[in-house]
Amino acid sequence: MTETARPALSIVAPCYNEEGVLHELHQRLVGVCRQAVGWDFEIVLIDDGSRDRTRAIIGELCAADPHVVGVFLSRNHGHQLALTAGLNICRGERVLIIDADLQDPPELLHDMMALMDGGADVVYGQRTARDGESAFKRFTADLFYRILGKLVDVNIPPNTGDFRLMSRPVLDELNRLPEQHRFVRGLVSWIGYKQVPLQYHRHARFAGTTHYPVKAMIRFAIDAITGFSTVPLRMATYLGLLAALVGICMMGWAAYSYFAGIAIRGWTTIMAPMLILGSTQLLVLGVIGEYLGRLYMQSKNRPLFIIEEIKRSEGALQPPLH
Ligand code: UDP
Ligand code: MG
Repeated sequence: MTETARPALSIVAPCYNEEGVLHELHQRLVGVCRQAVGWDFEIVLIDDGSRDRTRAIIGELCAADPHVVGVFLSRNHGHQLALTAGLNICRGERVLIIDADLQDPPELLHDMMALMDGGADVVYGQRTARDGESAFKRFTADLFYRILGKLVDVNIPPNTGDFRLMSRPVLDELNRLPEQHRFVRGLVSWIGYKQVPLQYHRHARFAGTTHYPVKAMIRFAIDAITGFSTVPLRMATYLGLLAALVGICMMGWAAYSYFAGIAIRGWTTIMAPMLILGSTQLLVLGVIGEYLGRLYMQSKNRPLFIIEEIKRSEGALQPPLH
């Protein structure tokens, strides 16, 4: 394949410790791609510094099937950056983002392609049901999208993941966005163009366990909110105003008690404003710190990820030799 020739379709799947699913993933992806675009596709598997056999298995898949492109990151960069690496490397006219764990059924590709043939630039999967996820995860995800919806000007549809089909123009725009703390589905919404949902039923993982424990979920949520909204900073101002108002009221009360000759025992009146002001200040500082930290990291202008190796077969995409 020449440098400029593009396959009709790229599939991008970030993989972190996914040794148990890769063969099944590969088989199912090849099946749906063949039906959709013949042999004119590539499957980009990004190894995000896995500690199990993921890297070796992706290497084997590359050797066996010229449609597989292996991207090996230098260490674990996290889901969103691994995905970003894959989106930078892939060459397709259309690109499907999918999790490696087969929670999102690849078979939906046909419906997504049909919607795109009908004029859509982005077809995003919207979950109607989620198997194998705890009530806690569903509740927090729901809460997260509600808060996000309130805070953010961009319309980020609820119950979506990164599972989506995008056209080349949208992908090129996405690849131009330089931010480090990436919330890819939000960035895609921000880009605009014609975006349509496709509702689907999200399955349980094929194998392995989630890589989003509560700590990672909180980090993900803060990245999403700070990436798209400065409302928390404004809320800090309102909180400051509220604390000032309470302080003024308390001063009025203290003055009244003084002139009315009510004995002031002192302790409560001192402690109350101290606690209110102290905690408000810390909270506000924390919020400012979140933004400042991101500004600092961004100002370093480091590359978003480091690719140690790319394995791809040159030459036209042919059926695999077996
Ligand atoms: N993933 C990754 N790097 C990480 C964590 C996760 O590339 O540091 C990949 C993982 O292999 C999977 C996808 O991101 O393909 C989504 O992760 P996971 O299934 O653990 O998240 P969940 O579906 O539970 O929200
Ligand atoms: Mg998953």
